[in-house]
Order: sequence, then structure tokens, then C-alpha cells
Amino acid sequence: MKPLFEFQCWMKRLYRQGPHFQKHLKLLERSQNYPIDAIRFYQNEQLRKMIRHCHQNIPYYRDLFTELQLQPEDIQTVEDLRKLPLMDKKTVRANFDKLIDKKRKNLLCKVGMTSGTTGSPARFLRDYNSINFEHAAAWRQWHNAGDTGKKRVSMRGGIIVPVAQQEPPFWRYNPANQELQMSSFHLSPANSRAYIDEILAFAPEVLYCLPSNGELLAKFFRHHGIRYQFKVVFTSSESLEPHVRDYIEEVFQTQVYDWYGQAERVAAIGQCRQNQYHIEEDYSIVELVPSERDESYELVGTHLHNYVMPLLRYRTYDHVFMTDAPCDCGSSFRRVDRILGRNGDFLITPEGCRISITAHIPCGVENLIETQFCQEKPGEVTLKVLTNGQFTDKDKEQLIKNTLTYTSPRMKVVVKEVTSIPRGPNGKFLSVINTIGMEN
Ligand SMILES: [Zn+2]
Repeated sequence: MKPLFEFQCWMKRLYRQGPHFQKHLKLLERSQNYPIDAIRFYQNEQLRKMIRHCHQNIPYYRDLFTELQLQPEDIQTVEDLRKLPLMDKKTVRANFDKLIDKKRKNLLCKVGMTSGTTGSPARFLRDYNSINFEHAAAWRQWHNAGDTGKKRVSMRGGIIVPVAQQEPPFWRYNPANQELQMSSFHLSPANSRAYIDEILAFAPEVLYCLPSNGELLAKFFRHHGIRYQFKVVFTSSESLEPHVRDYIEEVFQTQVYDWYGQAERVAAIGQCRQNQYHIEEDYSIVELVPSERDESYELVGTHLHNYVMPLLRYRTYDHVFMTDAPCDCGSSFRRVDRILGRNGDFLITPEGCRISITAHIPCGVENLIETQFCQEKPGEVTLKVLTNGQFTDKDKEQLIKNTLTYTSPRMKVVVKEVTSIPRGPNGKFLSVINTIGMEN
């Protein structure tokens, strides 16, 4: 098994850092210093190219342009994008085939899955060039933070070893990235010492984790009275609360760099050296749509690089608060004060582990519209599902199977079909409702 895994690691690295990777990285390292006018010029140029491509090669957009009586020349700038309607996951689900450029669809394309915060699954297609670009954008942030590909530990919610496994190792080594990949699912009080010993033996410089995993790991280091310094910590995929950042930075005597993105790759927000969030303006076009409820804005993104399945004016349903204050880092990228909408609660497994990422669970399950995870007792969870009326026993079985895979095989799972899922405060969809309380 080990040689096969190592081979896969090298292949994955080769794939992600393909022929376009260096080119993108070079450009991104330049464009991060562009003044705002140059950024807008770059975006408009890329946008015109993308719009011509959509009109020529993507049936969905060709029909849309005809319907709206628009020509590609009608969209020259970011502001002109408003002539097109917004789209979202429902649009993609209903028009999946029509949104694809068949000529570009090949074996190097990758299917992305998302369920987002509402737990409704959808598929996306990404082309090789855009995957290389995505990887280059991540590398830029790592470089800026001083990470030059040195030894790193990652704990990012993926299944590293079977969830049912009771004994260490709960990790595996990826030689291509010098990366010790550790399971998020086994990080419990009982296993904490084994995790710490493994990290100490590996002596990494970098930690790459979900904020909730980073916080828990820091707590275990402190609990066992062990001091360790990471040169840098990267977080992503969940909201990073200020107290969690402070805690991780204090325990590991380091600086945390956070990253916001989504499976659809229509918008990215990264943290700079000054701990401030900036919209990555050279990654995509991000429109800010004012919320009706408060001073926040919804992020609406337009692809500039994914030609196999471009999304134009795609709604993320994630909200941000903005600030006009300039940043000491000198970047002209717009500044985000706070990112909302990623605050997940967690589920507690029979083994006492906290599972904070539930977004994978509905992926691949048909006929689901919304999914909410409700927990009143550790080790038991009720999934409230809103379906399209065609939800079969097979779909239900798949959903239960996914839940066991991503939580614990001993989890007691009940699926309950409901006619609506009430929203939480401010109308926000709550993917997890845990009434056990934080102290458990
Ligand atoms: Zn900055």
C-alpha cells in the first residue's frame, strides 16, 4: 500500500504543478503588487476573453445571450457584468451539461463536489489550467508567509486513515510535499499524546489545519505542558474566530494566515502579513452585493480561468463586512473586515471526537435540497432533510453511509424528511444544531 500511496503523492504534485503552474505563480507574484488601475485593466481584459469564450463555446451562455439580446461586445468591463443575471448552485444543477465546453472536457479535468452551507449537493468541472492556477494562488500565500515548502503537518478534515481505526498511526507521510497528513477524526483526548509525540518526532515548521483542529491541538499541547513553535500556521475551510487565532498564535508562538475559498473557486480571500483579509483580485472577479438585512455584502464571483465550466456572477451566499481603511502591507486589493457564513457547529462522535466539517456528507447523494444535522446526545445525530420528493431508500442509505464515513462507524444516525428547515438568527441557514453545549 505504501509505495502506491507515495506514487500517488508524486503524481498529484506533478498534476497540480503542471506546465501552467510556474507561469501562473510568476504572474501572481507580480500582480499582487499592481495598483488598483492595473488590477482593473487586467480583470477587464481577462473578462472580455472569458465572455467571448462563453458566447462561442458554452451552450448555456449562448442561449442566455440570445435571450437577453446581448452580444459579447456588450460586456467590456466588470461593471457591464450586471447585464447578466446572477446564477447559483441550482442553475448549475439544472444546466450541468449545457455549462460545459465539450472540446475542453478531457481526462485532466476534475469533478469538484460541494454541498455548501445548506447541505445541498452539486457537481462542478474544473480544467487542468485552472487547477494549476488555483495551486499557484495557494503557493503565493505560503511564500508570502515565509513557507518555502519545508516540513509541514496538515490536519484538514480529510480521511487519512479509516475512521473505524482504534490504534495509531492516525497519520501518513506524503513525501512529495514533505507533509505529515494527520487525521482530523481521531484527534481526541485519548489519542492526543500520540499525536503530540508524532509531531515532536517529525519536527515540522508549518501547520496547515482547520481552525477547530488547530485550536484543539493547541489545547492538547498546553494540557500536556509541551511547548512547540511552528514557524507559521495556515488555516482554511472554517471561520477563524479572533479568540481562536489568538490562542493558536500564543500556544505555538507563531502567526496564523487564514484563507477563504469555496469548492466552486469563484472567489478567494487571503490574509496578508499584517493579519488583514484581502479579496484576491487577480484570482477572479468578485462583486459585492449589499445585504438587505445588515451592512454586510454577499460575495458573487466570476471565473477568469476555468474555461471548461465557467461560472459568471455565481452566488456564494457567503457574506463579508468590508473596510475602506488602507493596509500597511501596501496591497491595493480590497480589504475585508470579517467573513461571515462559515460558522459551523460540530458533532460529537461516540469516541468523543468533534467533527466540525459536515459539508462532505451530502456530497454525491441525489434528490437532496437541504440537510441539517441536529445533535442532542454525543454519538447520535438526526439529519433533517428537505428533498425534491424523489428521495429514495437508496439515497437515504447513501446519506447514512456518508455520515458514518465522515463521523464514526458507531454513530447512531436517523434521517428525517421534513417539509421545511427553519432559518437561524438573521435568516442564516444553520448546517449543524448542537444542543449538547460546548463543555462536552
Ligand atoms: Zn494587507
